Amino acid sequence: MRETPSNLTLKPGDTIGILGGGQLGRMIALAAARLGLRCHIYAPEAANPAYDVAAKYTVGRYDDEAALRGFASSVQCVTYEFENVPAKTVEILSSRVPVRPGAKALAVCQDRVLEKQLARDLGATTADFVSINNLEELVQGIATIGTPSILKTRRFGYDGKGQFVIRKAEDAATAWAAVAGSPCILESFVPFLREVSVVAARGLDGIVKAFPVTENEHRDQILRRSIVPATLHPVTARSAIDIATKIATALDYVGVFAVEFFVVGENEAETVYVNEIAPRVHNSGHWTLDGASTSQFEQHVRAISGLPLGATAPTAAKVEMTNLIGDDVLDWHSLMAEPDTQLHLYGKGEPRPGRKMGHVTRFFGR
Ligand code: AMP
Repeated sequence: MRETPSNLTLKPGDTIGILGGGQLGRMIALAAARLGLRCHIYAPEAANPAYDVAAKYTVGRYDDEAALRGFASSVQCVTYEFENVPAKTVEILSSRVPVRPGAKALAVCQDRVLEKQLARDLGATTADFVSINNLEELVQGIATIGTPSILKTRRFGYDGKGQFVIRKAEDAATAWAAVAGSPCILESFVPFLREVSVVAARGLDGIVKAFPVTENEHRDQILRRSIVPATLHPVTARSAIDIATKIATALDYVGVFAVEFFVVGENEAETVYVNEIAPRVHNSGHWTLDGASTSQFEQHVRAISGLPLGATAPTAAKVEMTNLIGDDVLDWHSLMAEPDTQLHLYGKGEPRPGRKMGHVTRFFGR
């Protein structure tokens, strides 16, 4: 079969281009190196965690066409470690080299309305939602959806940024001012018991492999801890994985992605609501580095390279990943002394409040 951008596969010695140089890019580059692949990082910052471990890096803006063309000509495939990659950047790159996941998946996952609509179209449950473009629509939306509800910017939100909880109809003007008039989604407040995620990969051949469902605890809107297995009825876990599989297939997705869910109700009434789709490796999958047969980073490299996906079974009865946020990292020395704990540091320098500096993985029953 003739190789085209859509079926091109990589072999050891080839180079993967990664847009973004944070810890996710760093961990993708480390996994690629183990498989004999090289990584070339492209990011605007002068210093970055991923540069330290990659074969090559280019400091460039995401709208610098000449620099992007040079980058594209030095790699066999491009991926990204963050979802806010400008569409134009992907357009410039994909005319020269395969970009995986592709433009369609990125466009849907960048927009909270499109991703919730896709989930609904595929038969999944979500919070009730309406898209909001001005204050009048917000007032109308609150009347329809009720309170409490949450106003979120459609694009560029992460870790709870760009969100406003509406407790009463009179909050409309304050909420609209808080999002500075950006296009938004208004969502009903979901009375969830737990938050879980499915991290999975879809290969170039369309095969999807999911890791076991992960339970996630947040503190100050930032992921604090992930635990596997999640407290979830096996039927509910199966349905979460089925939804994730349908989403990836509908988007013709290639690579690792995460679907975040709210768990509502218990026992027979237990249901999952899709909250968000992340078109990239995900913090709630970091436990796989030490706790699964294949890590999410290696799985991503395999998927975007057109290679067979690896096994996703956990290697312990229970695995727990805790993020080291801000000053938590100062405990690195004592964490390293714990007998059954794996420490990962991202090489970020000074800890700042809210900054993800590293993580630890702990095992129970292995
Ligand atoms: P998000 O940026 O959409 O992942 O939201 C950040 C966090 O806000 C979630 O992890 C939830 O804890 C909370 N949240 C977001 N949307 C809702 C909702 N519709 N109902 C209840 N809580 C929500």
